[in-house]
Amino acid sequence: MRFRAVKGMNDILPDEMQRWHRLERAFRRTVELYGYQEVRVPIVESTDLFVRSMGESTDVVSKEMYSFDRHSESLALRPEGTAGVVRAYVEHSTHAHEPVTRWYYLGPMFRAERPQRGRYRQFYQAGCELLGDGGPASDAEMIEMLCEFLRRLGIGELEVRVNCMGGPETRERYRQVLVDYFRPRAAALSGHARERVERNPLRILDSKDPRDIEASREAPRLLDHLAESDREHWLGLRSALDAFGMPYVVDPLLVRGLDYYTRTLFEVCSTSGAIGSQNALIGGGRYDTLVAQLGGPATPAIGFAMGLERLLLVMPDAVEVAPPLCFIAPVGPQAVRFGLLLARELRSLGVRAELDARGRSMKAMLRRADSMRARMCMVLGDAELARSVVAVKDLERHTQQDVAADQAARFVAELLERSEDPPTDAQGGRP
Ligand code: AMP
Repeated sequence: MRFRAVKGMNDILPDEMQRWHRLERAFRRTVELYGYQEVRVPIVESTDLFVRSMGESTDVVSKEMYSFDRHSESLALRPEGTAGVVRAYVEHSTHAHEPVTRWYYLGPMFRAERPQRGRYRQFYQAGCELLGDGGPASDAEMIEMLCEFLRRLGIGELEVRVNCMGGPETRERYRQVLVDYFRPRAAALSGHARERVERNPLRILDSKDPRDIEASREAPRLLDHLAESDREHWLGLRSALDAFGMPYVVDPLLVRGLDYYTRTLFEVCSTSGAIGSQNALIGGGRYDTLVAQLGGPATPAIGFAMGLERLLLVMPDAVEVAPPLCFIAPVGPQAVRFGLLLARELRSLGVRAELDARGRSMKAMLRRADSMRARMCMVLGDAELARSVVAVKDLERHTQQDVAADQAARFVAELLERSEDPPTDAQGGRP
């Protein structure tokens, strides 16, 4: 019986790991410069947490959540990061020790969606949450941070889209405007949208169904119905973005699928065409009512999440420089024992070392050293052991010399250090 990975859930093999690490490293380094600290919360939470925060009628919660019952508790694999992070923020009364909290997270999320390129059932997100600052400057700074992060990775051909969907007052006002608009057009809508005309007409604007897109074309814009304080926030955001000199597009149809958003919404999309229809790289927005809704004090907040797989699809390759390898080729059990000690010493000196302890011929081991593109090889044969030396081969320069056994590790470490080229990342600087 051979098993396969679950559909839409991917193995990430060591070959691909360098790119993942580079992306994760750039993310951490960038957001830490802006004051964010890492938080790790469980992958499993109570189902109710997601229902309450994201909204019962959203697709993610109603159709895509992996939930299960265990010991009369209903639990779910997290479909996104914000709910768990805010739960932790409230549970640990974080607001009581710091007025402004900046947290970031990174990890797998789960949604039972139809898999396609750029859309998976287990995928990785990295995200930030900024709690305790309700002003538009923090929205603008978060968007600027994302652009800086993408620039560092060498990802271009981007479009930043922003919208404002107001707070509860604006939403209620606008809901009524939309109900009045869609009611006479209900016959032209998809079945799914028709059910939402009275309950949640805002969602219709988010529909991908061509009938709904057509019917939404002339819909009144929420931006024209903002309550006064929301309008001030929106204008504040725009002038802060303008101060950064950052290009962006106002997209009144950007509503994003979760219930908890208020005021600012944003998305960063790739315009390169490399990832087809799933071109949203980063999505985020303000959620000023969620903390209170989950039992905390009224606390304004904003956050975003980005899909790491999608970023990897558009991230250019950088010159990857793996640390040079020293391969150890011992002949006989006594040489293997000595080889183990040598490998340990090499690693303690910061050298990547690998020992072939399978008792194979010298010829086979040297072939393997070559195929692994080892930079150095240490040969421990009978002749060497008898003289307490190690034959050190430089496989790049094709030279070889005997070195006293107790000096060999240091000799190799120094040699590698002297010949090491500085590794480069996307900007050509040291990582
Ligand atoms: P969301 O949490 O839906 O706002 O998504 C935020 C970001 O996560 C998106 O812009 C994508 O980059 C990524 N994302 C969302 N769903 C998936 C998925 N099923 N597979 C891969 N990436 C995803």
